Amino acid sequence: MLLKAPEFCIGGFDLSLGDPLTTHLFKDRLDHVQRLIEKAAQQSGRSLNDITLVIVTKGVKPEAVLEAREAGISIFGENRVQEATEKIPAVQGADIQWHLIGHLQSNKVKAAISLFQLIQSVDTVRLADKINQEALAENRVVSVLLEVNISGEEQKYGFNPEEVYSALDLIAKMSGLRVLGVMGIAPNVADDNVKRETFKKLKGIFSVCKTLKYENVEMRYLSMGMSDDYVIAIEEGANMVRLGKALFR
Ligand SMILES: *Cc1c(COP(=O)(O)O)cnc(C)c1O
Repeated sequence: MLLKAPEFCIGGFDLSLGDPLTTHLFKDRLDHVQRLIEKAAQQSGRSLNDITLVIVTKGVKPEAVLEAREAGISIFGENRVQEATEKIPAVQGADIQWHLIGHLQSNKVKAAISLFQLIQSVDTVRLADKINQEALAENRVVSVLLEVNISGEEQKYGFNPEEVYSALDLIAKMSGLRVLGVMGIAPNVADDNVKRETFKKLKGIFSVCKTLKYENVEMRYLSMGMSDDYVIAIEEGANMVRLGKALFR
């Protein structure tokens, strides 16, 4: 067994006691998820290596994050700056990347750009402008994705699909930003076809954005798919998925 040291207590269980629910934990779940990802990727002529895995660690203790790291994970996602401020310093490594995937308040922008290598949740031109100003003040270029509200639910964040292009046009002029793609969240519904349609919508937006030529824009990532719907998302073209509960219980 990989983790015997007493400091690796996950979810309150001491793994050395061999709790049946938690012993083989992360690596086994990861293997399972990767097999499904590979199968889904093959449907569109791609492989496992074409899909970037972001492991979402909100509500997860640093010890469990370290177990994920042992299993070879290097990209992690958090949705709140506050939680990330406490967790990120505990998980260090030159190859580790942290992504912000939740709504960012403008008073937390400065903290966010020092913690995260990619901000996936840029949801207004105003927020982009704020990040740009902080980036320029620090003589940096911050990588971002534009969040699109593909579910159409009013309580969700993100640009409306029809306003993405005009927003991109403005944001592309902000030299402290580098736009690397788009991110979206499917509606929380049981009907897979509804999810599939929303993923198709975001793929369409991504494809159009790819044809637009801007200096600070390189449409690389189509970030869609979470634990309940990543297979569908990948079948529909996602090349970045954000997984939490499929891997942490
Ligand atoms: C929590 C969260 C995820 C991961 O969700 P799971 O269902 O746990 O996989 C992905 N993306 C965003 C934006 C999230 O907030």
